[in-house]
Amino acid sequence: MNDDRPTAVVTGASSGIGAATARALAAAGFRVVLGARRVDRCAAIAAEIDGVAVRLDVTDAESVGAFAGAVPDCRLLVNNAGGAKGLEPVADADEDAWRWMYETNVIGTLRVTKALLPALLASGDGHIVTVTSVAAQEFYDNGAGYTAAKHAQAMLHRTLRGELLGQPVRLTEILPGMVRTDFSLVRFDGDAERADAVYQGITSLTATDVADVIAFAATRPSHVNLDQIVLKPRAQASATRAHRDS
Ligand code: NAP
Repeated sequence: MNDDRPTAVVTGASSGIGAATARALAAAGFRVVLGARRVDRCAAIAAEIDGVAVRLDVTDAESVGAFAGAVPDCRLLVNNAGGAKGLEPVADADEDAWRWMYETNVIGTLRVTKALLPALLASGDGHIVTVTSVAAQEFYDNGAGYTAAKHAQAMLHRTLRGELLGQPVRLTEILPGMVRTDFSLVRFDGDAERADAVYQGITSLTATDVADVIAFAATRPSHVNLDQIVLKPRAQASATRAHRDS
């Protein structure tokens, strides 16, 4: 089949920001490859947007290798897979939760980026978008595992901006504040009441709000590099300061 659309890869495309980004990029004219562990969810979205679903576990080198093998051409990579586990003081830190956050956000981004970089360079007009967080700019009590992982992920991404200077690859870091997705449900191990409380009294960003911004960055002319985009709900001033309607 003839398909002239440029290829975009979205990691963590089974829910939230990744799923919305896959939809927004397809609407912008990309052929989207959706990767995540819950590949059935990716397949349902792929069917809607004439995309492709491929199973991907970013914490598993073999899975990343097989995924990259299924993506010979790549113009745009959206490193979105990630998240948080727990919210405890350092004194009570759970090493397994920290390891999960590092493996998923940091090493996962490294693995997928390394695997797809040759294709991005070969495209002659590549673009790497990495979804970090305001947690990559700030730190807050009980959040050290997540803020440390997001800072590390951001350093990896920002370092590439210099290392790839002179090569045909753009780099955009997206730093969202509060977005209403399954993020808090995952962070609190499925505790819906605790997750709902995070968004209480605030009109949060939606996954589509973030996806729109990613699609905007991806559709600028090739010489325009949007380095960093911070987006937050109007009611949120920082990671820890927000106005809540009672
Ligand atoms: P979400 O709905 O929980 O989505 C997380 C996605 O990451 C899922 O698609 C999940 O897919 C994927 N994922 C997790 N572990 C993975 C693995 N080992 N391999 C492949 N995919 C994996 O949460 P979200 O809010 O959309 O999060 C997306 C990104 O935005 C994350 O990097 C998060 O840190 C960042 N972020 C979120 C917020 C927020 O407030 N929501 C704010 C700032 C930044 P599977 O489980 O199917 O593998």
